[in-house]
Amino acid sequence: MKTHAQAVVIGGGLVGCSILYHLARLGWRDVILLERDELTSGSTWHAAAGIHGLHDSTNISRIQHYTMGLYKELEAETGQGCGVFQPGSLYLAQTEAREHQLRLQEAKARYYGMNFHAVSRDEAERLHPLVDFDGIRCIMYEPDGGNVDPSGVTMAYAAGARARGAEIHRFTPVTATVPQPDGSWIVETPKGSIRTDWVVNAAGLWGREVAAMAGLELPLIPTEHQYFVTETIPEVAAQGRRLPSVADRDGEYYMRQEGQGLLIGAYERDMRFWAEDGTPQGFGHELFADDLDRIMDNVMRAMARVPVAATAGIKRVINGPMIWSPDSAALFGPVPELRGYFCCNGIIPGFSQSGGLGLLAAEWMIEGEPRLDMFGWDLARFGPWAGKAFTKARVRDQYANRFAIHFPNEERAAGRPARLRPAYEVQKSMGAVFGLNCGWEHPLWFADEPGVTETTGFERQNWFEPVGREVRMLRTHVGVLDISNFATYEIRGPGAQDWLDALLANRVPSVVGRACLAPLIGVRGGVAGDFTVSRLAPDRFMMIGSGLAERYHRRFFDMVPLPQGTVFENRTDALCGMNVAGPKSRELLQRLTNEDLSNAGFGFMQARQMVVAGVPVVALRVSFTGDLGWELHCAEEQQTALYRALIGAARDMRGGPVGSRALGALRIEKGYGSWGREYSPEYRPQEVELDRLIKLDKDFLHKGAYVALAGTSPRETLSIFEIDAVNNADASGGEPIFLPDGTGVGRVTSGAYSAHTGKSLALGFARAGTAQPGDVVEIHVLGRPHRARMLPAPPFDPEGLRLRG
Ligand SMILES: Cc1cc2nc3c(=O)[nH]c(=O)nc-3n(C[C@H](O)[C@H](O)[C@H](O)COP(=O)(O)OP(=O)(O)OC[C@H]3O[C@@H](n4cnc5c(N)ncnc54)[C@H](O)[C@@H]3O)c2cc1C
Repeated sequence: MKTHAQAVVIGGGLVGCSILYHLARLGWRDVILLERDELTSGSTWHAAAGIHGLHDSTNISRIQHYTMGLYKELEAETGQGCGVFQPGSLYLAQTEAREHQLRLQEAKARYYGMNFHAVSRDEAERLHPLVDFDGIRCIMYEPDGGNVDPSGVTMAYAAGARARGAEIHRFTPVTATVPQPDGSWIVETPKGSIRTDWVVNAAGLWGREVAAMAGLELPLIPTEHQYFVTETIPEVAAQGRRLPSVADRDGEYYMRQEGQGLLIGAYERDMRFWAEDGTPQGFGHELFADDLDRIMDNVMRAMARVPVAATAGIKRVINGPMIWSPDSAALFGPVPELRGYFCCNGIIPGFSQSGGLGLLAAEWMIEGEPRLDMFGWDLARFGPWAGKAFTKARVRDQYANRFAIHFPNEERAAGRPARLRPAYEVQKSMGAVFGLNCGWEHPLWFADEPGVTETTGFERQNWFEPVGREVRMLRTHVGVLDISNFATYEIRGPGAQDWLDALLANRVPSVVGRACLAPLIGVRGGVAGDFTVSRLAPDRFMMIGSGLAERYHRRFFDMVPLPQGTVFENRTDALCGMNVAGPKSRELLQRLTNEDLSNAGFGFMQARQMVVAGVPVVALRVSFTGDLGWELHCAEEQQTALYRALIGAARDMRGGPVGSRALGALRIEKGYGSWGREYSPEYRPQEVELDRLIKLDKDFLHKGAYVALAGTSPRETLSIFEIDAVNNADASGGEPIFLPDGTGVGRVTSGAYSAHTGKSLALGFARAGTAQPGDVVEIHVLGRPHRARMLPAPPFDPEGLRLRG
């Protein structure tokens, strides 16, 4: 065994082998995979191994399509059979909501050139004559859907990797991973140690145990999962061809052909955890005892849909473990707190995603950043707040609702509250309906009375009117928003300015009391973040960024060494923020402070330490609402006092509390982008109008990557659209945009009804040369085309008069 390697992959399941293969394919030949047993010894060997391309998230759809295409390529490349069957998949909608979901996916597939389209009942019956389509209101067909051979695929990845020079050592358990002072790692095994630049945790069911070797706790927990295979069914055999799989998600089961019979599996409501406190080291190719009673309700629905399934005996039951993260998406990416440690854990649809995961993992390690924005999978989306109780509650909910529709804006209750700010109880008593935001309970909107919960669906819900009232109240009078979900940092010391200037693409303010907006540039020259930086003293700065990206941004902060004597402090937990905004915000604040808040005394983009209602705050004259407003940041323990004072004063002026749903509408009507939607490392600064903030006469992180792109014309541009005749629904993000002649234009990134302007609005990207301001386009809301118009400017205050007023 070698003693040095560029990367050591721990775990020879489907995912570890794909990562090894892709590392080698992208050029790292000096890579090793260590497997404690035979390859496939975790979840991989017993999987049903179904594959499908469509997903609610566009980037996940992209990687699923890549994966589905890769298996045949792998067979040709390695000669190792992958057992690929692609007889197609039929997706059935029993409910209107499911139909909306499928039609939206069909429209997206058309935009991205993927194969997924509606078929008539006659056509569906020809494709699968054994399905009873009664009660089905819409049927979609994905011709590439199917299944693969789990061990064939894993072996093919392994063969492809070996052929490119990678090494695989079976029966070689990793017993320790030890960080070295130079940033490398020593990976220990009974057969010897390997020094490596990258440790890759792809240990599947043992992801937690391998992580613990590096002092890391991953929010993962395994569950049981069952499917069974029937004996031969004569009607199946008589077809003389492979039948499409059946995705009847409203029935909460999956079904495909296996041999001459059927395979039926279910994510049952009455689920079971397994090995909550740790996966046994000795566990290998065992299965659990069958417990088909638990999935019998689901199975009965499957049998009603495909009656021949009830005629055959059961040949084989598989009840095996799989391991889940709290939101059932992968825990993916380099661990921000550990140099050279990459995780790829908690993968549920591994056979649909293995190729894309392997490719993006290899890009991330070799090139520094994946080509696609993978924030939805980035393990940095969770922090220590996602502890065991939270993980368990969320996994229970995820498992039991695996096939339920996850609606836009949906907030699930499981595992909450995880983190509370002091004003939570006051807000609750005022009718706040909360959402989960970086673990915090965060007010989404305010109902007339406490205890109201929100409804969910693709159409406008019970929060539509209250949110509209909040928007109008703020635009007409004043609103108070809790912005404690922003991330706040303090940088102090003699090198504070130098460090910020070396990190961010804008020049930080040279004058005390000034603030600026500053983009952070990603490895490929895209937008990795946007921050508000305020100079509070000659050697003290406050930096505010996206709360969601708090851990994600740490990777970038750590890339720029802090000058001697300079301190970087993450103050997110210690500080709370309030935004007072609207035309009467000055008057409101002036009642609570003696500071001069006139435009001359406290201008736009100025910052100052002052006292409001007896509470010391850092006040910034900025507002994400796009209106006249101030952000006030105070010590967490004083949040309630400040909040009560602000709300009391607001009430006197026909104002009141405003939640983050209204903020979403307010910033869209002003055309402001938000990190994770309009700003992501996939988009270039010139595509989202952030290039005006970039100063090329100084150095900053990844300047070279930006400069290489700076001269290129935008591939697409961030635009604002007004949607007509929306049938009780608004765009929410992801909807494709077409010209009336069917040419694909782009996609929506955010959408909301703007109660202030009375328009249904969407922000989205339009490909260069497709649509111009004023052009009519079609946006697929609820999966159906709706007439829309690209606006020349945001409908609210395009000149910024209110903001600067
Ligand atoms: C019943 C069932 C049905 C399923 N059906 C489907 C399906 O239809 N479609 C689909 O896409 N997915 C399906 N899955 C999920 C799929 O099996 C997983 O997504 C996939 O197998 C995950 O692969 P992995 O490589 O991440 O993990 P694993 O397969 O668990 O592999 C991890 C490997 O790491 C090794 N390892 C652990 N610790 C160490 C150590 N210390 N040193 C060295 N090696 C170590 C283990 O021995 C193991 O081989 C199903 C799962 C189950 C349980």
